[in-house]
Amino acid sequence: MSDLIYLDVKTEKRGQFIDVTPEILKVIADSGIKDGTIELFVPHTTAAITINENADPSVRSDILSYLEKLIPQNGRFSHSEGNSDAHIKSSLIGARLSIFVSGGEPVLGTWQGIYFCEFDGPRNRKLIVKIKSD
Ligand code: ZN
Repeated sequence: MSDLIYLDVKTEKRGQFIDVTPEILKVIADSGIKDGTIELFVPHTTAAITINENADPSVRSDILSYLEKLIPQNGRFSHSEGNSDAHIKSSLIGARLSIFVSGGEPVLGTWQGIYFCEFDGPRNRKLIVKIKSD
């Protein structure tokens, strides 16, 4: 049994990948849970959550720039808010992640980091986390 934890994520650009791995490490450490699962959920329709390379920042900028080529902000959309591209990018990347926890650490590959993906910033966002013990 555990409660939901609401983390604040402040984004500074329209499109941005923010490394939230340190915040997730802290949630796990504070919980005292050694083995279980951590669930991450983004309660927004123009943001997302993903895992990708934590070494070369150009990987993140390549993902953003290719998503922009695929789904340009100034494309022809029915939705009239001017952020249709961000809605589509959000659905492509996804709103939820589940990561195993083992020995008090998230089970991630050497080159993996956890990224909050902003597609319609800058905004004040939330990332909802739940950690469950096995
Ligand atoms: Zn919209």
